[in-house]
Amino acid sequence: MSEAEEQRWVGVMLDKLAAQESKRTLGDGELAERAERLSGQYFGGRARPASVRWVTNQNTRWGSCTPAEGSIRLSHRLQGMPEYVVDYVLVHELAHLLVPGHGPRFWRLLEAYPRTERARGYLEGIVAADRLRHSAPDGDGDESDDEGPAPAPAPGASRSEGEPVGSEPDGS
Ligand SMILES: [Zn+2]
Repeated sequence: MSEAEEQRWVGVMLDKLAAQESKRTLGDGELAERAERLSGQYFGGRARPASVRWVTNQNTRWGSCTPAEGSIRLSHRLQGMPEYVVDYVLVHELAHLLVPGHGPRFWRLLEAYPRTERARGYLEGIVAADRLRHSAPDGDGDESDDEGPAPAPAPGASRSEGEPVGSEPDGS
C-alpha cells in the first residue's frame, strides 16, 4: 500500500468509527445475556461464564478471560464496533472457558462462529489504523506492547492476563 492509500484508508476507518460511536451500546446485563445466547448457539451451552462485563482498563486487549473464576472482560474500546465483532470477542473468550490457550483445539472451536476471520480482520485493521495514527513522522510506530501471543498458562493456572484476540497469530 502506498502512503497516500494508507492515509486515505485510515481516514475511511476513522469516519466509520466516528459514525459508529453514536450507536447505543450494550449494558453489562445485556452483554451477559448475549454471551449466554452465543454459548448456546455455538458451544451447546457448555461455556457458562460467571460474569461478563465491560472494563475500561484494557487498552491493548480486546477481551480477557479468567477460566478459574469464569469471568470474562471486554474492553470498552469494542463499544460501538459492529455486532459481529463484539460477538466474535465474546465467542473467543467463551471458548477459553472450554480450552485455554490458542492451540488447534481452540481454533477448531472458533470455526463454529462463521465470522471469525472477518472479525479478526476488522480488529487487525483497527490496530493498524491506531498505529499509523500514532506513529512518528518517520513512520516507525513503536507500540510493540500491543501484540504478541499470550503466554501459555500452566495447567490449571488462572489466566488472568488477557490477549489481543484479533491480532495474534494462529496457535501452532
Ligand atoms: Zn484468546
